[in-house]
Amino acid sequence: MAGTVWFVGAGPGDPELITVKGRALLERAGAILYAGSLVDRAATLYAPAGCTVRDSKSMTLDEITGWLIAQAACHATVVRLQTGDPGLYGALAEMARPLDAAGVAWSVVPGVSSAMAAAAAAGETLTLPETTQTVILTRVAGRTPMPPGEELAALAAHRCTLCIFLSITLLAEVRTALRAAGWPGQAPVLVVHKASWPGEERIVRGTLDDIAARCRAEGIGSQAMIIASPALGARHLDDIARSKLYDPAFAHRFRRARAAGQPSRR
Ligand code: SAH
Repeated sequence: MAGTVWFVGAGPGDPELITVKGRALLERAGAILYAGSLVDRAATLYAPAGCTVRDSKSMTLDEITGWLIAQAACHATVVRLQTGDPGLYGALAEMARPLDAAGVAWSVVPGVSSAMAAAAAAGETLTLPETTQTVILTRVAGRTPMPPGEELAALAAHRCTLCIFLSITLLAEVRTALRAAGWPGQAPVLVVHKASWPGEERIVRGTLDDIAARCRAEGIGSQAMIIASPALGARHLDDIARSKLYDPAFAHRFRRARAAGQPSRR
């Protein structure tokens, strides 16, 4: 049998945040390989009876691809379940290459990234008219170096929203980089630990200067999203520029422009 390997985004942790398509694939899977503790609930909730379910925590990349190839020889549907979206820090290319070489078909089902889940948890918007219209998804160099030109200080020079993955133990570096780029020490920073996990999610708000101490005090040292953005706290600002989409003078596909004060037709 020639099965297909599906790289499925499990979402940020809440099993209800997997897509309908991702869940349907789990429900008919012959084998599921899930990526560590952040997604085990979806795997165990939706896997059918008799499905082989395995955690990849202790496996090397070669073992993972070897396992997926072997399972695809016995099952029509094999799922590699990953946190958030598989296209973000998910080693997708490294896993897909051996599958291609073995002639195994594969496909990707996107997922809700933790960047979106963290913003949602805190009731924040990542874009705000006339403040920032750009979001950068990035990380600080750890064991994986940053490519030239992608150092956090260079990216921060854009003064847009920064969603920083894999860096909760490197808050001092985040502060240094953003200060070097001219962000004030009082710039708001949001950290969300286990965004969307029922009963486990924790939200910490602070500034560039004090967010590390606040996270330390809360005991947060893993599984956290850092968001630095001039849009943070937007709902408390009085002078938010109204989105052009809702400005009555602005015509778009679904509505004709009307003069200020002129009533709407409905
Ligand atoms: N593909 C994933 C990211 C994997 S890298 C996605 O799209 O979200 C792992 C990093 O993602 C963690 O270090 C953390 O920064 C972030 N992360 C994953 N799940 C998270 C969650 N539920 N809450 C907060 N951060 C999370």
